[in-house]
Amino acid sequence: MMNKWEGIVLRTMPYGETNKIVTILTKEAGKLTAMARGAKKPASRLSSITQLFVYGSFLLRTGKGMGSLEQGEPIDSMRHIREDLEATAYASYIVELIDRLTEDGQRSSGIFNLLFEALHAINEGYDPEAIALFVEWKMLPVAGIHPVLHQCASCGSVEGEFAFSFKEIGFLCHRCFHIDPYIVRITPAQLKLIRTFATVPITQVGSLTLKKSTKQFMKKLVRQVYDEQVGLRLKSRSFLDQLDRTPSLLPPKEKPAESDE
Ligand SMILES: [Zn+2]
Repeated sequence: MMNKWEGIVLRTMPYGETNKIVTILTKEAGKLTAMARGAKKPASRLSSITQLFVYGSFLLRTGKGMGSLEQGEPIDSMRHIREDLEATAYASYIVELIDRLTEDGQRSSGIFNLLFEALHAINEGYDPEAIALFVEWKMLPVAGIHPVLHQCASCGSVEGEFAFSFKEIGFLCHRCFHIDPYIVRITPAQLKLIRTFATVPITQVGSLTLKKSTKQFMKKLVRQVYDEQVGLRLKSRSFLDQLDRTPSLLPPKEKPAESDE
C-alpha cells in the first residue's frame, strides 16, 4: 500500500553501503520506520529528504515488515538548525526524547504538533535551550506522568505557599510540606512559570526570554522527574551537559539571521 504522509525525520541510520533506515514521525500515521534505498548516495533523490529534522511529505510503501520510502519532498529542511551547533544539539535532544517516548504507529497529532512547533521555533532562532525545556515539560504526560500543577497534590488547596515535591510529582501547599522532607521551595513566579511550561503551547511561549538561572532551575526539576520516574537515558543529553559546563565550546553568537522565506 502506498501512502503520502507529512512527517519529520526523527532518526536515520546507515544501512549497508548505500541505504538508510529512517524513522519518521508522521502527522497522519504516527511514527514509522522505513528503508530508503540508495539514500546514502549524495546524488540520490532521497538524500535531502532523509536528513535529521527535515519536515516534508513522504511517499511510503507499507505492508508486511519494514516499509520503504519511495519519494519525498522537503517542505522545510530546517536549515538553520543544521548550521548552528547549539541548535543542532538541542534539536537532537528533542527528537531523541520524542522518539524514545513514542511507539511505532501510535497516532498523536498533539505530539507531531509539539515536535513541529519546537523545531520550527529553533529554526527561527528562538532560544533552543528554552524550547527543549518546554518540550520536556510537555512530554511528561506522554511518558505517563501527570504532574499536579493546578492545586496542592495532597489536599487540593489552591492558596498558600507552594513547593515542588518529587514524591507527589507536583505542588504541595505549606500545610502539606510535612509529607515530603525533600520538597523544593518555589516562589509564586516560579510556580507560574512551571504551569506555563507544562500547559501553554510553544507558539505562545517560544519567544519568552529566560535567564540562565531560571532555565537551570526548570531543567533540574524536570530532569529529576524523568530520572526518577521514567529512567530514560538519552545519548544526546551528555553533549548538552558538556555544553552547559563549558559554554566556550560554542562559537560566539551572532544575531539570528532573518528568515529568508
Ligand atoms: Zn496541601
